[in-house]
Formats: sequence, structure tokens, C-alpha cells
Amino acid sequence: MPRKDGDGRATSAGTLIVGASQAGLQLAVSLRQLGDTEPIVLVGEEPHAPYQRPPLSKEFLSGAAELDSLAFRAPSFYPDNGIELVSGERITTLRPGLAVTASGRELPYGRLALTTGAGPRRLRVPGAELAGVCYLRDHDDAAGLRGELASASRVVVVGGGFIGLEAASVARAAGLAVTVVEAADRLLGRAVAPLVSEFYARAHRRRGVRVLLSTGVTAFEPSADGSRVSGVVLADGTVVPADLVLVGVGAVPRTELAEQLGLECRGGIVVDASARTSDPSVVAAGDCTVQPHPLTGEGLVRIESVQNAVAQAGTAAATLLGRPAPAKAVPWFWSYQGDLRLQIAGLSTGHDATVVRGVPDDEHFSVLYYRDGRLVAVDAVNRPADYMAVRKALTQGATVPAGAAADADVPLKSLITEARSAAPAA
Ligand SMILES: Cc1cc2nc3c(=O)[nH]c(=O)nc-3n(C[C@H](O)[C@H](O)[C@H](O)COP(=O)(O)OP(=O)(O)OC[C@H]3O[C@@H](n4cnc5c(N)ncnc54)[C@H](O)[C@@H]3O)c2cc1C
Repeated sequence: MPRKDGDGRATSAGTLIVGASQAGLQLAVSLRQLGDTEPIVLVGEEPHAPYQRPPLSKEFLSGAAELDSLAFRAPSFYPDNGIELVSGERITTLRPGLAVTASGRELPYGRLALTTGAGPRRLRVPGAELAGVCYLRDHDDAAGLRGELASASRVVVVGGGFIGLEAASVARAAGLAVTVVEAADRLLGRAVAPLVSEFYARAHRRRGVRVLLSTGVTAFEPSADGSRVSGVVLADGTVVPADLVLVGVGAVPRTELAEQLGLECRGGIVVDASARTSDPSVVAAGDCTVQPHPLTGEGLVRIESVQNAVAQAGTAAATLLGRPAPAKAVPWFWSYQGDLRLQIAGLSTGHDATVVRGVPDDEHFSVLYYRDGRLVAVDAVNRPADYMAVRKALTQGATVPAGAAADADVPLKSLITEARSAAPAA
């Protein structure tokens, strides 16, 4: 029962978590694990209990998984742990101590955590509202896209990022004609080295995907009766026929509530290493945040990954309870595009040298990234042992000398050495 303050207004010593997904649920779980016994209300706009998003562009899209199997927890978990899960309600107003949902429900709170995630970046071109032009962020998007794929024959994916390429793999494996249109001159440009981008372009082409680089989209063409999309108009005027379009051009952090509270936002809700916002009593975690680089502490980075959402949520829970933050974790990420299993450890931003292990076109290689002679990240394609070794080295604050790393026959884990004795990267 909410308590009342002197003016009869409802108050609560409990925690309100806005956004019931990877970060929000983890925050609630971490609060309980840290011994918090106060009420926890976890509010989510989606009608479903929290579920894993990564399979949406992989197993779920291909039909190998259903929503039930993606749920993080059994329904009983929430009442059993004193977590009030409020699904299908969007918080539209936040004032100190009180949140109000779109349906008018009032939720008083003592402590506030924002885990509002991100939404898909929309493409604003003529025809963007036509049926058959899809986005992929949540379960309902994925279910709609899966239904569309069942009757599509020509698919265009706009955007050569992780989600677009994963979905392109699924569509191609189902025997559909697939074209990927990317505005930049390489795939995955924000995430990996040019060599890895070039590998992905070749690998998808080998599988029959048409990959168009340095190619903008100016409009979507309607079918003769205007009922749905029939083609994608490229910047040079060429029209690529399509009965289904997936737009995967990035995600925009959802900062509207943080802005309402006057919190500092710069391409995401600005938080410090303890997940505190510019109001030290409010924490935020996951895709909605920008934070100091988790390894170097320099500059603000926005990290869209499961690992980051989980780690930052754990930190946010500790901060709310006035406990020390858990030790910094090494960022990691994966992207499975059919049989191409990419695993990333560390953050390669700012690297000044790379070492390649193996032959990319064998579809079994890794790229180690160095900055000032120090190992900072790895991209491993179908080489899980390399990924594990680098993750271990980074966790230990160790390195792998660049000169020795190039020999793909020598296990990387046997080369891990103290960072100080590292040879400069080649
Ligand atoms: C298709 C897809 C594939 C992915 N694949 C991978 C992968 O392979 N590996 C990997 O590491 N990461 C992957 N990711 C990224 C990963 O899923 C995200 O980093 C993670 O979900 C972030 O969690 P979050 O809780 O911060 O945000 P989100 O998962 O975006 O959740 C935020 C939630 O808050 C809710 N919300 C927002 N505003 C309000 C409001 N005002 N009121 C109530 N509720 C609100 C939203 O509805 C949403 O449910 C993928 C993401 C997608 C979409």
C-alpha cells in the first residue's frame, strides 16, 4: 500500500523502474540480490513480460523460437520476489516522487531508475508509411516481419548493421531474393574494422545476397493499387523491386522522460560510472544511456548490448542502495548471421593497429585491435577460443603481444602476458 505524506499525497519508499526489459529487470533482480526489501515496481509499455531481444532477428525470425521461450523469467518469479510487474503501461509524466501512465494510473516512488532503452531510427522518405515497410525492435515488430516473410519473395534490407544483416541471413536462408542497401561505403561501419566489413560483404554475396554499398534510398514506391510497397528508389533513380522492406538504420535512445525531469541528455541520458544521472538521486542503465568509456573512462559512449545493459543495471542497483559499484566488466557482444558467428570483446574505438589471425575467406578468423601497443578488443568470426582468450586478457588487465598474435596456429591464451611487457603492435 502506498503511504501518504502530510498533504495526503501518496508516497512510497520503494523503487520505480521505468522500462521492463533487459536493463530494467536486471536492476530489479540486483536490488533483491543486494538485500533490498522495499517495494519494486517495474513498468513496461509492451504488453509482454520482459523477454530477450537478440533472438528476434535470429531464431524467432526464422521460426525456430517463440515468445514463450524468450521470456527471462517464469510468471511466478515476479510475485515470488516482491516485484510488481506492470505491463502494457507507458509512463508519460514524471515528477519528483510521482509517475503517471498514459492511462492515468499514478505510481508514487521513493527511488527512480530509467531503463527506457531505444527505439528504431525512422527513415523519413516518401512512401515510408507504406504497408510492407518494417522495423525491428520489439516482439510485435518481429512477429509482423515473420508473417510478412512467409509470403514475400523479394526483400530489401535498408541498412547494413547487425540487425539488418541478421535478418537478411534469415530471409536468404528461407530462399528469398535479398538486397542489402547501405549508405556508407562498408557494412557494420560503426562497429568493426574495414577488413571485417569487407569480409561480411563477400560472405553475404557468396550466399546470394546482393549488397549495394555507398547507396542512399530516396523513396519507397507503392504498388499499382497503392496498397503496399513494391520497390525501393535508390539515389541514382534505380528502383529495386521489393514486396518487403526492413529498415535497420540504427536506434535512437528514449530520453523523453529524462528530459522532462531536466536530466542532462547528449545522444542518450548522461550517466557517470556509477550509473547516476545529472540528478544524483536518479539512476539510468542500458541502451538509453551514454556513459564514460567502461575501460578507459575517457569520453562518453553509448553501448547497445545485452552485456552493457546487465552490467550497468547491476551498478545502478548498487548505487541506489549506496553500495560500492561492482568491478568494471569488459564489454562483449555477439552477432550470429546464419553460420557466421561473430563474437566481440572489448571496445575497438580509437585503435591504431590491428592483427589478423587466420584467413578471412576461410570464414574462420579474428582481428585483434591495439591502441598504443595495448590490446583493446577482438572481433572473432567462428573462432570462439580467440574471443575467450582476449576477453580473459582484458578482464585481467593483460595483453597479447601483437608480434606473436598473428600466428593462428598458436593458441592466443598461451600468449597472454602482463600489459607492461607488451610489445608495440605491428
Ligand atoms: C533485434 C535485436 C537484436 C539484438 N541482438 C543483439 C545481440 O545479438 N547481442 C547483443 O548483445 N545485443 C543485441 N541487441 C541489443 C540488446 O537487445 C539491447 O542492448 C538490450 O535489449 C537493451 O536493453 P534495455 O533494457 O536497455 O532497453 P530495451 O530492450 O530497449 O528496453 C526498454 C524498454 O523500455 C520500455 N519503455 C520505454 N519508455 C517507456 C515508458 N515511458 N514507459 C514504460 N515503458 C517504457 C520499452 O517499451 C522497452 O520495452 C539486439 C537488439 C535488437 C532489437
